[in-house]
Amino acid sequence: MFVSTEFVPPQVLDSFLARAHRMLIADQWVDAASGAEIDVVDPSTGGFIAKVPAGDELDVDLAVSAARIALEGRWGSVLPHQRAQLMHRLADLIEERGEEIAALEALEQGKLLDVARTVEVGMAADYIRYMAGWATKIEGSTFDLSPTDDDGTRFHAFTRREPVGVVAAIVPWNFPHLMAVWKVAPALATGCTVVLKPAEQTPLTALLLAELVLEAGFPPGVLNVVTGLGHQAGAALSKHPGIDKIAFTGSTSVGKLIGIEAMKNMTRTSLELGGKSPVVVLDDIDPEFIGAGMLRALFFNSGQQCVAGSRLYLPRRRYDEYLTRITSLADSLRIGSPFDSNVHLGPLISAEQRDRVCSYIESGRAEGAEVILGGNAIDGPGYFVEPTILANTDHSMRVVQEEIFGPVLVAMPYDDIEQLVEMANDSEYALAASIWSQNISRVHELVPRLKAGTIWVNTHGVLDANMPFGGFKQSGLGREHGKAAIEHYTETKSVCIAY
Ligand code: ADP
Repeated sequence: MFVSTEFVPPQVLDSFLARAHRMLIADQWVDAASGAEIDVVDPSTGGFIAKVPAGDELDVDLAVSAARIALEGRWGSVLPHQRAQLMHRLADLIEERGEEIAALEALEQGKLLDVARTVEVGMAADYIRYMAGWATKIEGSTFDLSPTDDDGTRFHAFTRREPVGVVAAIVPWNFPHLMAVWKVAPALATGCTVVLKPAEQTPLTALLLAELVLEAGFPPGVLNVVTGLGHQAGAALSKHPGIDKIAFTGSTSVGKLIGIEAMKNMTRTSLELGGKSPVVVLDDIDPEFIGAGMLRALFFNSGQQCVAGSRLYLPRRRYDEYLTRITSLADSLRIGSPFDSNVHLGPLISAEQRDRVCSYIESGRAEGAEVILGGNAIDGPGYFVEPTILANTDHSMRVVQEEIFGPVLVAMPYDDIEQLVEMANDSEYALAASIWSQNISRVHELVPRLKAGTIWVNTHGVLDANMPFGGFKQSGLGREHGKAAIEHYTETKSVCIAY
């Protein structure tokens, strides 16, 4: 049900929105060298919010130099506990300016204000504090070596973990501030420097983050932000020989382009890519429980989440019962302004994304799927699409195989566990999956058989700074969070000593 899109952006944004938005290179706020700009648009209304610089190779070059100078200069001699202190200060500042960050995300991304408060502010601050803890706990190993020289000389070795260097963080528009923090925080903890490129649709919180990094006292050049288009600023970063590591979250197609460019310079990469995550429901689950679970698994953030549980597998004998409950709960979701606290689903990010989602729904219809809920965009200036459920789907359909990145669920029955496993794994993606059952033995049997970087049991979408996150198959390369992230942002150096 569509509620309304009428609201006045909260006053907390007045001062931020009134200013000219520039990129941060070292401690200078600059326009793009070309003078080009991009419009940032409010997806709830299609209205203009702000202009930001459209950076390209020239700007990327300056930002990479600033990051290199910082790495080899003052930042390189900042001690681990000092890095941690600076990070704690940054987390405090994010909370102090939390209302602004949350409102900006509701405005530029269309994310519900309450979700923005929890995820983009709360989780981001917690993430920085978690990673701050690692700054003082980076360690190597020691080894007694086997070789000896004829004169009796023996060898002892140890390893050091050193910052990987200048990191390019290229992030998407679905959780703009949190995704930036997921890359920036491990970089700061390990002593790297960063050039951050936010998505062109959602650059504003990255600029606010950069302001807070300076205010927290990090030396100039530790975080630089280049706003701009993917095929210009993003591509220039992927190719730049001065970048030591690329940390990317986004689509599989762009991730591959980045990976190919990066490999030409042997630039390290971690790629968190697309998904088409199965929700696997066994026959002992209460319909109410899985109904509520699906709202979280798929419709959270209007389906614009890489872990979205967008393929639903139901046991045939309870298929109608489960699907009826899920459909009626999804039908009760209210769509409208992210600033309206009665709303469950905000807009999609852009007209392009709305049209893409709608064309998937059309392709499903054309291939024989039955639309049992929703199926339409909502007329109006904003980019809203109804919660949509497609039944009568099968694995030959694009809607089942491809990532839609919108509020579109495909539902399928299965007859036995063998068929369930085969269908759940029949995807080029393998980012996540969820299993819904109270029978612990059946769950344990399924866990090793499902291909996915993360498997949730009786929940979906829970992420934590301490839990490794990343994909199997075409869903990515490497893991974020926890100790795995620290390993990605450092290089191992072996030191061998004769005695
Ligand atoms: P999404 O599906 O979330 O839009 P994209 O993969 O298109 O994901 O975008 C994620 C990020 O990658 C954005 O910051 C975007 O600007 C950037 N990007 C897009 N194309 C390229 C490219 N060719 N090279 C590098 N970065 C790119």
